[in-house]
Amino acid sequence: MSDVKVELEKRDALATLDHVFSAERMMETIKYLSSDELKGRGIDSPEIEKAADYIKSKFEESGLQPGGDDGTYYQTWVQDVLDKKNLKLKNVIGIIPGTDPELKDAPVVISAHYDHLGLGWPDVRKGNEGLIHNGADDNASGIAVMLELIKTTAKSLKPSRTVIFVAFTAEEAGLIGSRYFVNNYQKYQIGKIIANLNLDSVGRLFEKKLIVINSNTAREWKFIFMGTEFTTGVATELITQNIDASDQVAFIEKGIPAVQFFVGPNNDYHRPTDDISKIDAAGLVKTATVVKETILYLAERKEPMAFTGKAKDIIPSADVPMKQHKNGNSKKTAIGIMPDFRFSGIGVKVGAVSEDSPADMAGMLKDDIIKKFNGIEVNNLKIYTKHLYAQKPGDSVIITFERKGELKEVELTLSER
Ligand SMILES: [Zn+2]
Repeated sequence: MSDVKVELEKRDALATLDHVFSAERMMETIKYLSSDELKGRGIDSPEIEKAADYIKSKFEESGLQPGGDDGTYYQTWVQDVLDKKNLKLKNVIGIIPGTDPELKDAPVVISAHYDHLGLGWPDVRKGNEGLIHNGADDNASGIAVMLELIKTTAKSLKPSRTVIFVAFTAEEAGLIGSRYFVNNYQKYQIGKIIANLNLDSVGRLFEKKLIVINSNTAREWKFIFMGTEFTTGVATELITQNIDASDQVAFIEKGIPAVQFFVGPNNDYHRPTDDISKIDAAGLVKTATVVKETILYLAERKEPMAFTGKAKDIIPSADVPMKQHKNGNSKKTAIGIMPDFRFSGIGVKVGAVSEDSPADMAGMLKDDIIKKFNGIEVNNLKIYTKHLYAQKPGDSVIITFERKGELKEVELTLSER
């Protein structure tokens, strides 16, 4: 730990950076991206082009070099996504070139996805079909923080390693943009990337700790975030479970250490109510501060980090993002809870309960710990999810959960998500 601390301090003294992040500027970005005008940034909509253009213009204005195809900021391709044919997709990529001949070809990648669910597809909850899903937290917030990092570093930072910023498309349909990037990007060798820092849903921090998902993918993460906590005063909470949460997984699948910054579950997840009014502007500044410290550390770090993740062992995160990639699994069962990923005890801890969901109607509450599913012990999220997805909407199940040391049992009817 002390090594990291010392390096962070040294580096801080050397950096001639604008240390002031503007909450207002970040809120402006969220306001635009989550406005009804952009109709939820669905990947099958013309409006997502506006979002990509906006991000590109900010990259350009801040002084990032183009990192996409043929000297542009875009990496574009055409692909079928789930049941939609020939979608034109694009990632937006910009670069701060590295200055150290030994390190510049082993970049740090910062990412955030800019797509959301549009009018619902591909993860609409019953009753919300056709409504605009603005996606202020998920993930206009991540883009806003990334653009702010770019704005405040692109011209002044002279990193040893190249820093690549990517706004990914089609995350919601199953990490399509990030997987395309790791399989097709040519400018730098993917295998040489030292790490990926992914920002997804960082808009509602308030007094909580900033969550770092997949911190099991390198031993160094723990020390790095002890270091950032020391230098920034912003507390982080490391989650080591493999959760199929967001685009960092595409990097982990390639054996690259990668983490996601996240602020925890909320009831508006993938609903039209994920709006700017619920964003914590001060939290955006705190998040930006932590991520910047991490970038600065990684950009100067001499050694690669040793990958300690389990690329094969990523689990879907229960009621949360069921990424329907690969087999296009469309079983959409839910009880209406978001698990609390920070929980490392036995069972599945409820992080949030969706209004009017089966769990809500059965009286389940935040902090309940699910112990059994139809009488079968579910010791972790992976086992729970397996049992949940073996059912169909309309099936009746018995959930046994612990509340304040007491076991309770409820019967509920699984809903469709
Ligand atoms: Zn999402």
